Amino acid sequence: MAAADALAKTRNIGIMAHIDAGKTTTTERILFYTGITYKIGEVHEGAAVMDWMEQEQERGITITSAATKCEWKGHTIQIIDTPGHVDFTVEVERSLRVLDGAVAVYDGVAGVEPQTENVWRQADKYNVPRMCFVNKLDRTGADFFRCVQMMIDRLNATPLVLQIPIGNEADFIGVVDLLGMRALTWRGETQKGDDYAIEEIPAELADQAAEWREKLIETLADVDDEITEKYLEGVELTVDDLKAGIRRATIAGKGNPVLTGSAFKNKGVQPMLDAVVDFLPSPLDVPAIEGVATDGETPLLRKPSNSEPFAGLAFKIQTDKHLGKLTYVRVYSGTLDSGSPVINSTKDRKERIGKIYQMHANKREERPTAQAGDIIAVQGLKQTTTGDTLCDPANPVILESMTFPEPVISVAIEPKTKSDQEKLGTAIQRLAEEDPTFRVRNDEETGQTVISGMGELHLDILVDRMRREFNVEANVGKPQVAYRETIRRKVEKVEYTHKKQTGGSGQYARVIVSLEPLPLDNDAPTYEFANAVSGGRIPREFI
Ligand code: GDP
Repeated sequence: MAAADALAKTRNIGIMAHIDAGKTTTTERILFYTGITYKIGEVHEGAAVMDWMEQEQERGITITSAATKCEWKGHTIQIIDTPGHVDFTVEVERSLRVLDGAVAVYDGVAGVEPQTENVWRQADKYNVPRMCFVNKLDRTGADFFRCVQMMIDRLNATPLVLQIPIGNEADFIGVVDLLGMRALTWRGETQKGDDYAIEEIPAELADQAAEWREKLIETLADVDDEITEKYLEGVELTVDDLKAGIRRATIAGKGNPVLTGSAFKNKGVQPMLDAVVDFLPSPLDVPAIEGVATDGETPLLRKPSNSEPFAGLAFKIQTDKHLGKLTYVRVYSGTLDSGSPVINSTKDRKERIGKIYQMHANKREERPTAQAGDIIAVQGLKQTTTGDTLCDPANPVILESMTFPEPVISVAIEPKTKSDQEKLGTAIQRLAEEDPTFRVRNDEETGQTVISGMGELHLDILVDRMRREFNVEANVGKPQVAYRETIRRKVEKVEYTHKKQTGGSGQYARVIVSLEPLPLDNDAPTYEFANAVSGGRIPREFI
């Protein structure tokens, strides 16, 4: 296949969802239908293929953004896994940065949940075209239409409803395809859903289906000029016209195709994959990536083509049990050969590409070359961290960098046995290389090692990884606050300098508070102050 053809048939997508909406189950079904796995493992039994790390299975959350390649109807789909827990928004952010489109998965009972909202906004920021899959329609209390309404109300989305459910809850058997005006039904759970029947629309749904089809066309006519024209002229719109319109609207970020099903009951996943291919963009459909020359100013564009100079973005560092440190790279332009020299233009360092791997869910394939649009794992990069640009030494460019939020919580950490001090140091250093929101510093005043992250769970998991991967048992606790204050007493006022460690950033904030003296009792000159920063009393001994 010519390179441009291959690119046109590539979909780099993420699956985003609130925790428990069914992202892992859906991903796993995708891998099943695309032939990567041959056995459907139940997520709650801990056999999911995507959840590589043991603890993800134990905790039922997905932490790593593992990239996985699969094939569907002559197209290559690369799934960049995005985590659903709020502590990992930075992981979501960096995956959103390198993917071209996304599928938002909803729990059909809960509808739009806080984390869906959160990730949706992040995707807005990066202009990621999105479609929606309303999952769990088999659950008691599922309500497809309510979920669609919530997308409008809570996400400000423009749902392009392409299916309506046939039956609901325990009786959910399939969907009406509003484009083809036909019924797709999955009868019986034992079939694993590989086969579905194409039938006439059930009579009792005929009117509702016609109504929703009209609504779909009207919504499309609102957002797509070509459809508007035909609609106004009264021209009969063919399925192909509608599909082309939906694709344009989705890629332009003006509409969101909505499909539905039950991943767990193996219903609706294949049509959802068809929609990924039909409506989400290829790397050729998204604007050329913007960067700057090494002067940091002159704008430079890199088009998704093999004939451009190589430029790529490192978006994830992972330590693989067998391969060691792997750097995940999205190749935006040009080609990359294993063994070739590149420049890390962000750090202004030379690097050499080791082996290049294509990651599948359950195997990795070594490749001599990566091409524009590919997402690959590279061995051998020493200095590169998440967010760095790698490029052709003769044509340097710095791609728009990623921004990482400041950590919000800190704990002090020490090894359980003193002799593990060095091992702990190595573990912390390695984990900080992988994760830009994990920070470490030594507090000069207390002598403690203080680590910071995005939330309790985030730090819990890191400490857990130290134990599992680096064999270091560590104690964590509240950091001691180095507390220094200078108080000068004036006649009526006390000037109070409060030097306080602020929780997340590891910086000191110097806060000066003016206080009115306020005797609490007569025998001790204690001063009370209602100050949000230290929220206590001036210690007696200072006065
Ligand atoms: P994630 O946190 O979004 O990855 O969600 P999971 O895929 O781990 O699913 C969370 C739970 O919901 C698991 O117990 C799944 O078996 C269950 N689940 C997923 N999809 C469905 C579905 O379509 N119907 C029902 N009834 N349960 C589902």
